Amino acid sequence: MSSAPPTKNRASRDWHLNPGFGFPPRTERLVALERTFFDVLVVGGGITGAAIARDAATRGLEVALVEREDWASGTSWRSTKLIHGGLRYLQTGNVKLVFESLSERSRLTRLAPHLVHPVEFLFPAYRRRGLPTWIVGLGLTVYDLLALGHSPCLHRRLSREELLRLEPALESPALTGGAAYSDARTDDARLTLENVLDAVSLGAVAVSRLEVRGLIHDASGAARGTEVLDRESGRGFPVRARAVVSATGPWADAVRLLDDPDTLPRLRLAKGIHVTVAAARLPVSRPIAFPASGGRLLFAIPEGPVTLLGTTDTDYAGSLDEVAAEAPEVAYLLKEANETFPAANLTESDVVATFASLRPLLREPGKRVEDTSREDAILVSPDGLLTVTGGKLTTHRRMAVRAMDRAARLLTTQGIAVSASRTESRKFPGAPATSLEESIASIIRIAASSTPQIDAGTADHLARRYGSRAVEVLELVAGNSALSRPLCAGLPDIEAEIVFAARREDARSLSDVLARRTHLFWQAPRQGGEALDRAAALMREELGWSEQRRESEIAAYRLETALSRRFRGGANPP
Ligand code: FAD
Repeated sequence: MSSAPPTKNRASRDWHLNPGFGFPPRTERLVALERTFFDVLVVGGGITGAAIARDAATRGLEVALVEREDWASGTSWRSTKLIHGGLRYLQTGNVKLVFESLSERSRLTRLAPHLVHPVEFLFPAYRRRGLPTWIVGLGLTVYDLLALGHSPCLHRRLSREELLRLEPALESPALTGGAAYSDARTDDARLTLENVLDAVSLGAVAVSRLEVRGLIHDASGAARGTEVLDRESGRGFPVRARAVVSATGPWADAVRLLDDPDTLPRLRLAKGIHVTVAAARLPVSRPIAFPASGGRLLFAIPEGPVTLLGTTDTDYAGSLDEVAAEAPEVAYLLKEANETFPAANLTESDVVATFASLRPLLREPGKRVEDTSREDAILVSPDGLLTVTGGKLTTHRRMAVRAMDRAARLLTTQGIAVSASRTESRKFPGAPATSLEESIASIIRIAASSTPQIDAGTADHLARRYGSRAVEVLELVAGNSALSRPLCAGLPDIEAEIVFAARREDARSLSDVLARRTHLFWQAPRQGGEALDRAAALMREELGWSEQRRESEIAAYRLETALSRRFRGGANPP
């Protein structure tokens, strides 16, 4: 299909001049999407697509980003939430990936200190299980070397006694000692969202709940945009662009098939599940990388009120829209955790929540799933559609640079000059101007003087979650003190966060606010059931939901939590 492209461009939009970071009204974004002839249209708002849109926007290009659900709603909010070199990949000999990942780890701790936190990990070693201590030591030495001096601290060997002093829950007769090493943790959904927010601040038009249903071609057969369906209004319309990049993760083959029904599948989907258990049942003070039977490396990570356990790595061939942790997978994680933390004696009834997701890997015939490369790849279709797949959360920025360097070649042939990426030193939206510690102290001071309803603990929580943008959440409370109420007893999340998510962070459903803008889905007792009515009331007020919409939103959230508990027949957690 071809027709004269619309001509409206960024010069006639002024929202990128608005102060602060936030999304313009969806209606305005839809108008811009329809009227603009973009340089690049990115399909898929997971970490990969969000980073590509951000990269393209830093190059001064006209960028559109469309996502069929919510930002990060695919694999990108269901990772182990590590920004790491990946000790596992040293075992498989992928030194290049580890090197790049460690270099990105260092960069992200500087550019997004509120989202990427260096933290000490423990690595226990056992008699007749996992790797011997000397090999662990050797591997960690290589890890330190590959970090080229950017490791917050070098690894250190620990005796059995030293290890148990740090982490008594590791007490087990087979424990021989171990090591401590540095890596980093993140909030994957927020890392994705801040990529999108930054792209928007640079003029990109980013709209969620838009599903790509087909490709548009010019007279020569080159891909020049997509047909999208607005899943909120049911209306379809074209979005035109000089280059189309698909960053649709596990759905990448489906989008390639939309483009060319004869194309062969290229993906191998590797499923990984996580479970959370109450921190009181498995108390760990820092992340622990522990060996499972069969040589896999699993993690137990403290995440506020819960400990996160993960993950598995198995082939998957089921529905992409109903990926759930199954009973044998949950039993496997609990069994391995019980081997490592015998006193915990975890059972199914301890599970607060589960989540499952798919790694979009490129097929490598003859390889086991766990040996399949985690490096990113760019596939180029005959019509010029670029598909970016594979990769890691950790390497998202570098993947995006590579993808846009490739897209630049397509744009150059169309007379568009493309400058170099500017993400190498560009801070993320919530990155504080000072150190994270100073910024947290400053937010606590501001809260104490302007919103006395917010105690220091809550202010600290807001500062860590939103970075410098926490001030905007405090402003909401200053305008309406009722918004300082906690959403769930005993957790720091407050009502103002729901309003902020709807007003500034493009949240459009209960799952958006409870699973991705906050973490109640996997951190709160009953997966945030206690907060459901209040969150729905706040969203209704912000987004003008009808009573019917409010009810269907609550039902949809309940379905999602039931899927998370399907492994035990959907029964409520304790
Ligand atoms: P996705 O996040 O799935 O995004 C694709 C998006 O495309 C989705 O939001 C989807 O809705 C959208 N989409 C699909 N079809 C369409 C369409 N037709 N129109 C519009 N939009 C569409 N990496 C790390 O660095 N650290 C970790 O700790 C880590 N842990 C992991 C643990 C597990 C279990 C898994 C599975 C992966 C882990 N990874 C980790 C890898 C990392 O999470 C993934 O590589 C990354 O999230 C993939 O992001 P993506 O954007 O490519 O895919």
